[in-house]
Amino acid sequence: MPERRLRSELHRQGLRFRVDHPINASGLRVRPDVVFTARRVAVFVDGCFWHGCPQHGSFPKANADYWVPKLLRNAERDREIDARLHRAGWQVVRVWEHEDPTAAVERILDVIASAGVN
Ligand SMILES: [Zn+2]
Repeated sequence: MPERRLRSELHRQGLRFRVDHPINASGLRVRPDVVFTARRVAVFVDGCFWHGCPQHGSFPKANADYWVPKLLRNAERDREIDARLHRAGWQVVRVWEHEDPTAAVERILDVIASAGVN
């Protein structure tokens, strides 16, 4: 699911959010795909290959010396970003690119609801 489909589904639900909005994650500058600034909710749409989706992620057999550490680093970096965002008071929603946009929006709405009102 490209980011665009998620964003249009969020729009359809009447949600307002920022796109391409950098935030400071405990000293690290990150740029989530969708940001709800007031609720402090950051949403990332993760590519199945690049971020190691449990259903579709795989290590290419060719050039394994290159790909295995690279993909492991990506996953490690994702966890690091999540931890830093949490420390900075953000909630993080990670959506796989294979996920149905409607289901993804439901998850995001749950997190927003739990983030309180402002
Ligand atoms: Zn996947």
